[in-house]
Amino acid sequence: MSERNSAMNGPPPAYQIIGENFTRAADLLKLPDTWRTLIRNPFRELLVQVPITMDDGTLRVFRGYRIQHNGARGPYKGGIRFHPVVELQEVRALAEAMTYKTALVSLPFGGAKGGINVDPRQLSRRELEQLTRRYVSRIHLVIGPQRDVPAPDMGTDAQIMAWILDQYGRQHGHSPAVVTGKPVELGGSLGRTEATGRGVSIVAEAAAEEAGFALRGSRVVVQGFGNVGSHAARILSELGARVVGVSDVSGGVYSSNGLDIGRLERYVRDESADGTLAGYEETGVESVSHEELLAIDCDILIPAALEATIHAGNADDVRARLIVEGANLPTTPDADQRLTARGVRIVPDLLANAGGVIVSYFEWSQNFQQSVWTEEDVQRRLREILLRAFMEARRVADEHRTTLRDGAYVVGIGRVVKTEQLRGVL
Ligand code: NAD
Repeated sequence: MSERNSAMNGPPPAYQIIGENFTRAADLLKLPDTWRTLIRNPFRELLVQVPITMDDGTLRVFRGYRIQHNGARGPYKGGIRFHPVVELQEVRALAEAMTYKTALVSLPFGGAKGGINVDPRQLSRRELEQLTRRYVSRIHLVIGPQRDVPAPDMGTDAQIMAWILDQYGRQHGHSPAVVTGKPVELGGSLGRTEATGRGVSIVAEAAAEEAGFALRGSRVVVQGFGNVGSHAARILSELGARVVGVSDVSGGVYSSNGLDIGRLERYVRDESADGTLAGYEETGVESVSHEELLAIDCDILIPAALEATIHAGNADDVRARLIVEGANLPTTPDADQRLTARGVRIVPDLLANAGGVIVSYFEWSQNFQQSVWTEEDVQRRLREILLRAFMEARRVADEHRTTLRDGAYVVGIGRVVKTEQLRGVL
């Protein structure tokens, strides 16, 4: 039985992954059991019904979530996911990851996550807007600029953030800082849309240097061609890497000479029947399956889709020497061990995909200051924060003679514990 199937009997993979990652770090920190309970359990979990009238007049009822994991360090912060498999323990795991991520990169935020169990590609624009507004009308009492600040995640984008801003404003007055990842015209930050992908490219370059190879000329494979994956692929190819494979939910494409990322982006946006890579044709480009994509011979593999896509069943097929986790929780602990034992380096999600929340913090700050930063400012500060966090996680990992993942968790969890102690909760 594969690891993914066996997981069906217990908590979902995301929850298992964060649980095991937490335990290893808590052991290194010698954290007592009460503190483990205090840190791991979410502060508040809100589960709401989200009914909407579809275009054909029928009623459909979705489930919406907003989980505020830990707010010791500041307002709760985390994305909103619209995806068919969204469920309680997955959102819980993702909210918890946000707590350690914001702490690792020293932002004055806690961690949260929200979502709705819906496939947004099946909804019309009117249905999507109704769904978003109805969800906000059910959670508006627990969010707010100093309380909990949502942002985009899988299946959501700047337009959806604009509807959140507008709906929240109807009940509380205009409050741009209630949500980040907004359109620039509504107070969004320059550089936010591509921030997570840019962050991936910044840490990929630093990790490649550490591993002794140059990003320029290296071969890159990207799993997931949405917000994170497509921007990471484009920025990396602009930096001189050769992106040889990319995939999305429909499957993958491969070219040993390197793919034209701009052309793929245009295809998905303007030409594809369903907004995916399906049907893409170009001389020298072959279609590959999900499994084949992960097994492509390359230097850097970037998972940028769902959780647990690299598991015990496929870890041994991975031929990359460096994995940079654009997605949250993409590697199961078993796979992690196998890869580490083979000398594959992994830049963990807490660090690799923190670019999004860092620029969200810039956006939130600009909203309070009523100022607009230049794109150069955004990029420079993003780089500084990410590289500092990288060095801190590396130093702690080396001190404990462990992986960069453990180092990142120890730094993040250690900061949350310290803040709770200063507040005096126990
Ligand atoms: P998105 O919805 O924009 O894109 C997701 C992509 O993954 C799509 O191309 C989709 O087709 C593809 N996909 C889905 N299932 C797949 C599969 N089985 N195999 C290959 N591809 C598949 O989502 P996103 O915002 O890019 O988020 C991707 C990941 O990055 C998620 O784990 C998310 O939590 C994480 N993340 C996102 C942000 C952000 O700012 N958007 C920030 C940090 C982390």
